[in-house]
Amino acid sequence: MSGSPEPIPIARPDIGPREEELVLEVLRSGSLSLGPMGPRFERAFADWVGVRHAAAVSSGTAGLHLLAHLAGAGPGGEVITSPFSFVASANCALYTGADVVFADIDRDTFNLDPAAVEAAITPRTKAIVAVHIFGLPCRIEEIRAIADRHGIAVIEDAAEALGARRQRRMVGTTGSPAVFAFYPNKQMTTGEGGIVTTDDDAVYEAILSLRNQGRADSGQWLAHDRLGWNYRMDDLSAAVGLAQVERLDAILASRAAVADRYGALLAGLDGVELPVAVPGDTRSWFVYTVLLDPAVDRDAVIGLLAARGVASKPYLPAIHLQPLYRDRGHRPGELPVCEAVSARCLALPFFGSLTAGQQERVAAELAAILADPPLR
Ligand SMILES: *Cc1c(COP(=O)(O)O)cnc(C)c1O
Repeated sequence: MSGSPEPIPIARPDIGPREEELVLEVLRSGSLSLGPMGPRFERAFADWVGVRHAAAVSSGTAGLHLLAHLAGAGPGGEVITSPFSFVASANCALYTGADVVFADIDRDTFNLDPAAVEAAITPRTKAIVAVHIFGLPCRIEEIRAIADRHGIAVIEDAAEALGARRQRRMVGTTGSPAVFAFYPNKQMTTGEGGIVTTDDDAVYEAILSLRNQGRADSGQWLAHDRLGWNYRMDDLSAAVGLAQVERLDAILASRAAVADRYGALLAGLDGVELPVAVPGDTRSWFVYTVLLDPAVDRDAVIGLLAARGVASKPYLPAIHLQPLYRDRGHRPGELPVCEAVSARCLALPFFGSLTAGQQERVAAELAAILADPPLR
């Protein structure tokens, strides 16, 4: 008799010998921060994306904060973003003292609805944080056109969208500064870390200073031109990042293959809606989520999957219904599309080394549960 099968985790980073080799190189060099590895990683990343500048930071959240600050967000200002995102897309505005204004999402893509964004603009709006959720590009050119008409900055939260393309253009190269993130569940990782990409020399120079305690680029270590932060990325993290960029095409391809397999395994399963494709756009696979029938008790399904050794997550919870945002006055009913999607969305185990056998098990367990589903 074999025991119960190995539990299947929700995410796993793809780390190999090249990551170990480059980390060891940094350790032996003695330059653990502000050494040569940071710029090597940044150059490789910028070249891969196809953008002029990339400035590494300590997290995606830090990058969003710096861009919100540069956009002029502050007390009395407002920043518009999606309620169907990771909380950092909204918190970056609160760090500056600005208020967050949520615009509802599109029912199929889960991305910001440009018409809802336009309706949310007020004379106090300073910036729009346009999120590319679950690696599917948002309608960034429409959002930029709206922002340009109103003289508002656009920040792209591309934390989940490394390698995605909007109408053939790589996310991060469509004109607004963008932030990518490297927490271990993202397409590529540096442990903790993030990066800001831009074609704008002034934005790039400003990020270099702001991430480094507001230092002048005069090279004088103790000259501080303005208030900055310590949002630097260390060279050990950059070493992992460089190795990941070298292997990025293969990393993304293995994730896409796993997503395709789920698509085949789950097609036709009653009561489950699969992720949409948008003609002309390329999704970069960050998570694999399905929408359950509204009558099904999604959270009970998560418990039943866990009992069968399959990790899953209610993903994403609506930001405006988090306690922090309820305390700021937000209530259920405010953003009905987001709330409906958020209540039904289920993230399944997803990473590049997930085997066909593991995926068959996930699909079979989900099908077995949904044959006689727990109801709300
Ligand atoms: C992961 C993520 C972030 C934040 O990145 P960290 O590196 O964890 O700070 C921001 N926005 C979105 C949409 C994310 O998924």
